[in-house]
Amino acid sequence: MKKTVHKTIKVKIFNPTQVKKQFLGLLRENSTILNHYVSRIEELGTTSKSRLHKETYHKLRKTSPLPSAILQTARDKVVEAYKSYQTRKKHRRKASIPKFKDNTPVRLDERTVKVVETDNKLKYFASVSTQEGRIHVPLLGQRYQYKYLKKVLDGEFELGIAELHHIEDNFYLYFTIKKEVEIPTPNRSFTPVAIDLGLVNLAVSVTPSAIRFFNGRRVQHKREEYAKVRRSLGKKKKLKKIREMQGKDQRYIRDINHKISSAIIEQARKVENPVIVLENLKNIREKINFGKKMNRRLHNWNFRQLQDFIQYKAEWEGIPVVYLDARYTSRTCPKCGDALKSNRKREKHIYKCHYCGYQLNDDLIGAINLSRNFYNSMSAVEGAAVNPALNQSKWTATPLHCEVNQPVQDSGSHLFNRW
Ligand SMILES: [Zn+2]
Repeated sequence: MKKTVHKTIKVKIFNPTQVKKQFLGLLRENSTILNHYVSRIEELGTTSKSRLHKETYHKLRKTSPLPSAILQTARDKVVEAYKSYQTRKKHRRKASIPKFKDNTPVRLDERTVKVVETDNKLKYFASVSTQEGRIHVPLLGQRYQYKYLKKVLDGEFELGIAELHHIEDNFYLYFTIKKEVEIPTPNRSFTPVAIDLGLVNLAVSVTPSAIRFFNGRRVQHKREEYAKVRRSLGKKKKLKKIREMQGKDQRYIRDINHKISSAIIEQARKVENPVIVLENLKNIREKINFGKKMNRRLHNWNFRQLQDFIQYKAEWEGIPVVYLDARYTSRTCPKCGDALKSNRKREKHIYKCHYCGYQLNDDLIGAINLSRNFYNSMSAVEGAAVNPALNQSKWTATPLHCEVNQPVQDSGSHLFNRW
């Protein structure tokens, strides 16, 4: 299956003081327009782009100093934000009418931002449309980012929507880079890279040749520190600071999710015909004990984001991703199929089968069963043509392999690789 895949790179603009005035002006004008569109949508009672265009365009061209292409992308951004607000409201979720602050990123497209190669020491420049005409700015990127930009200029990748961000006295361009890849449809000849999610281990990934534990303890420790600061601020009612700490926590989660997903893709690239097997998150709350309500927020982890990162990075490499039902995966014995709930000893982080005595780290069990589910689901798809004997051998191949290589008799803490 052919699919267009995306990647975002965040590139710093060199020497921001030179363009500070123009860019701050651009951000301000842009947020004025964004808020203007919100009120027009409310007044007109429509999110139709053509209707909005008809009602606003000519007037805005006269009153706003922004280039018309930025007016259009701003309109699109507001329509998307407003629609998602309407959807949330419809589903009775927490929602408020979109309101844009002065530092809301400016959306740019191929008409309003271009990347050019120069003979300067900083090779890549961006040319950005502003209320004062086009501005050329040097890009201070990392080597891998330059590589992506080069491929954009060579026509191998395509540039999608970009955004200008203002963060702590610096300006950044977030480029969306697109390419088309062929993603194969997995079958039983593929090698599953199964990923179990949890809190003790945020992720455990298993291939027939390697196991990786992404231990959550260190991460948890850091988040507890953030929470402590937040609580002490709470008493003094320093709302702005509290929000800052929350942002910090969110960025930390994001950063860790990026690290885990990249490591998993690295692992997947080492096997032949990999397929990423993720669990359907529907039952995650049943599976994970989040603890008391008070702690839930602290212990909560953005697993959806982690899966999204894994998926987009996998697809970028042309690796297929499947989501499977993960019910009972953390309590089923991979050896005999016994599924007694008490087989799992949470406090000791081990799994011990009542029936056959098989013993292993409990999070590892989940990942092993998930890869087993992959073979089962594939044989269900392929139906009667499947040779049951072959299916049986695949069925046990993964767990036996793990058992031989990783004789985990305790919590397995010595196995937690650094990441
Ligand atoms: Zn058993």
